[in-house]
Amino acid sequence: MSKKLPTRQEDYSLWYNELVKRAGLAENSAVRGCMVIKPYGYAIWEKMQRQLDDMFKRTGHENAYFPIFIPKSLFEAEEKNAEGFAKECAVVTHYRLQTDPDNPGKLRVDPSAKLEEELVVRPTSEAIIWSTYKNWVQSYRDLPLLINQWANVVRWEMKTRMFLRTAEFLWQEGHTAHATAEEAVAETRQMLDVYAEFAEEHMALPVVKGVKTPNERFAGAEDTYCIEALMQDGKALQAGTSHFLGQNFAKAFDVTYATKEGGLEHVWGTSWGVSTRLMGALVMAHSDDEGLVLPPKLAPIQVVIVPIYKSGELDALLDRIKPIQMGLIARGISVKLDARDTERPGFKFAEWELKGVPVRLAIGARDLDGGTVEVVRRDTKEKLSLPLADIVESVDQLLTDIQSNIYAKAKKFRETHTTRVDSYDEFKRVLDNEAGFVLAHYDGTSETEERIKEETKATVRCLALNEPDEDGVCMVTGKPSVRRAYFARAY
Ligand code: AMP
Repeated sequence: MSKKLPTRQEDYSLWYNELVKRAGLAENSAVRGCMVIKPYGYAIWEKMQRQLDDMFKRTGHENAYFPIFIPKSLFEAEEKNAEGFAKECAVVTHYRLQTDPDNPGKLRVDPSAKLEEELVVRPTSEAIIWSTYKNWVQSYRDLPLLINQWANVVRWEMKTRMFLRTAEFLWQEGHTAHATAEEAVAETRQMLDVYAEFAEEHMALPVVKGVKTPNERFAGAEDTYCIEALMQDGKALQAGTSHFLGQNFAKAFDVTYATKEGGLEHVWGTSWGVSTRLMGALVMAHSDDEGLVLPPKLAPIQVVIVPIYKSGELDALLDRIKPIQMGLIARGISVKLDARDTERPGFKFAEWELKGVPVRLAIGARDLDGGTVEVVRRDTKEKLSLPLADIVESVDQLLTDIQSNIYAKAKKFRETHTTRVDSYDEFKRVLDNEAGFVLAHYDGTSETEERIKEETKATVRCLALNEPDEDGVCMVTGKPSVRRAYFARAY
């Protein structure tokens, strides 16, 4: 195994980057800001996808696929959306290369192969999808339209970090159309709940559900709802968004429906998305200085078995281990038997620790003779000696315990890193020391929000849905405020 990871204390950012690489999740690529997702990282993403996809289907959605390219004229139709994304767009202007007459062996863009209309590489797909919905929706009988797409998108980000912010990323984007505003708002809120449930139940990541301020709203939306999570360095991360689009896209693309009563109305829209950023959240929220700590529900390998043996005794030991492995598999547990004869147990332990496998069984002939198995849980590093007789049952229970322990730990961290403050000085002091979420009153204006951001680098993460009304005064201007907002420095 290569040298130890930098610790979180030493350099959180370096720890994260090194961990992502060394655990085999992803690496940088030849393209700035774009990463290669490696098999172990992709396996986690696939588990996320599978779970989310089930949840989308259960709530009535179907998958479809739309093109990666959006003709510029369609892209600019919804002005606010176009304006908001314009500065991050990659644009295709030509469709052919040719050998360069001045530079043998090199290629250049063929000037005669210029596209008549430039194509925007989708940064988000509202434009192409709503231009299609125009043909799909005629009457109230066609509604609601509940579609999701799994895709890649491109946003030409200047400051990138693996998973958290990349120029190309993988995501899902739901795009729905409804007959009434109430239905569309209900859909927006429902999908926010789906995201929160996924984060908490599967990622073991507690989240705050809230609504964004107009400054942070999705371009083209009437309202942006979000889930916000806290990372171990006390910075917040927006982990998912659900937008109520009003009739903005329906009007821009002239999507109307005949009502039951015979009238003609524009439809109401929503869109919602989570991305490979969730992979970054998973790493940053739970992992430690030894490596990844994966919640069992998303771990590609839930249990690793490392045989402990003397030279020449491996085959005999494997015969005794196989039934244990089969028992675990029959329980629906994913098991890796690390029978490599080329590495020592200590090396294997460190490697699987780095990869965050929740449970490790070290099995030797002597323990088996005594009717026990050595079990180590990754989250607490606790070593247990468990009876062989009901090992499958015990390991299954242990995985459940680990899942809830990781969640409880993250929740406790969030609780101890959420502070209510009543003055701007206190606000700044908390940000510089404890960090985390800071709940404070502000006057709700964009100007004050901007000023706070400039002076402290903290942003309003959201107005939490469960935050009670409370009369107060803005910590900056002294103007009245009716509710505290969640502030934090964020990724
Ligand atoms: P949006 O369409 O801006 O609401 O973003 C949808 C989802 O994609 C949100 O959950 C974001 O956290 C995530 N996201 C936005 N930009 C990036 C990026 N550059 N890299 C990874 N994820 C992103």
